[in-house]
Amino acid sequence: MPAKRKPNQGAVIMTTYTTIGDVRGCCGHAHRTIEAAERCRQCDAEGCREQGGYSDRRVMRSDGAPLDESEMDAIHAARS
Ligand SMILES: [Zn+2]
Repeated sequence: MPAKRKPNQGAVIMTTYTTIGDVRGCCGHAHRTIEAAERCRQCDAEGCREQGGYSDRRVMRSDGAPLDESEMDAIHAARS
């Protein structure tokens, strides 16, 4: 019995994440995990706080697709 092919087999499609804000702009990274992106966002927020401001960056998928539920969960888990 032949192995079932997955639709994306053979294509390396890796989701990456970045952080972006209207004021702060984009961090310019392609984070390979959403946790890394969240840490990057927290670092930026920390740096802004030290200067008396705040960061309006939020975690986004690099492909522009909205975050799904498991990704939102991962962000919340990384925050606690
Ligand atoms: Zn970053």
